[in-house]
Amino acid sequence: MSKPVLSLIQSDLPEKWQQILSDLISEPKELLDILGLDGSEKPASLAAIDSFPMKIPRPFALRMERGNWRDPLLLQVWPASEEENQVPELVTDPLQESSFNPVPGLLHKYHGRVLLTAVPHCAIHCRYCFRRHFDYAANTPGKTGWQAALDYIKADGSIEEVILSGGDPLAASDKYLDWLLGELEAVPHVTSIRFHTRLPVVVPQRVTPKLRRLLQRSRVRTTIVVHCNHGRELDSEVTRALSTLATDGHTLLNQSVLLRDINNNPPSLVELSRRLFSAHVLPYYLHLPDRVAGTSHFQVSEEEGCRLIAELEELLPGYLIPRLVREEPGAAHKTRIL
Ligand SMILES: *Cc1c(COP(=O)(O)O)cnc(C)c1O
Ligand code: SF4
Repeated sequence: MSKPVLSLIQSDLPEKWQQILSDLISEPKELLDILGLDGSEKPASLAAIDSFPMKIPRPFALRMERGNWRDPLLLQVWPASEEENQVPELVTDPLQESSFNPVPGLLHKYHGRVLLTAVPHCAIHCRYCFRRHFDYAANTPGKTGWQAALDYIKADGSIEEVILSGGDPLAASDKYLDWLLGELEAVPHVTSIRFHTRLPVVVPQRVTPKLRRLLQRSRVRTTIVVHCNHGRELDSEVTRALSTLATDGHTLLNQSVLLRDINNNPPSLVELSRRLFSAHVLPYYLHLPDRVAGTSHFQVSEEEGCRLIAELEELLPGYLIPRLVREEPGAAHKTRIL
């Protein structure tokens, strides 16, 4: 039987989230106008945008406070002139990931789990990102090139968990995700699939009924690790989107980065943990910033991180305290600081 014409047309229309991703804010001037800010007070660096373009989804920008240069959401995405600072300890491949890259698109660093750079782009460009200098072009095989990565997973029975990262795996189309999940589920020793994604937080419209069906269909356990650095990122719409994913039976965790002037104070971290909990998400990791070039203005010391965790322990139940970690090149797991 042929499909009704209307449903064919509807399936070709871009969904709301796709429209949002095709209309990102990419010019400092536009963001300044939206926020009513004067660019001469904190000029954007053209060199910074040139090496790592500005990309901000509108629903995220709408959560920023107008007229406030210190807004914790704005500071995560503003291409500040400090990005041009040259600091010898900050390098372009701080994790030396290229040495754990046996086939394109796959990182095998830790026991029992591999990470796939499943999608070459993100919905947002976070200025502290450790992958800002990553060669996605060389590391995103595309559908046909995936065979080597899938063969690698099939050949190693110790791989139980596949982590879909990026970029952002949920920036992919449902069709592509459906295909990739199907391939991974066909490997008998893969029992768990994990998404590392910022999309449900920055564009909650991504959590559509179609995506939910696709994720629920899976025979394997799914974990969704979102990425949120400040409680203000979690408005009611984001909270609703995350709660539906929890209701669907996925394990929801959060990782954050400890960022100077954004969340390196106890009230912000307490609020973040509490709001995550309201959205059915538990804090997982609090990363010290990776030592990547262009991020000197975000760096927080290990000592300060430890002090902050100690203060959180006075204020929150144990299950709302994230693990303070740093990624060290060559270590067999993330290095627990506290
Ligand atoms: C962080 C990371 C993982 C996952 O580590 P967990 O401790 O299991 O969260 C896996 N592979 C790579 C390359 C990573 O960077
Ligand atoms: S969403 Fe993640 S990978 Fe993408 S720019 Fe932000 S921190 Fe980097």
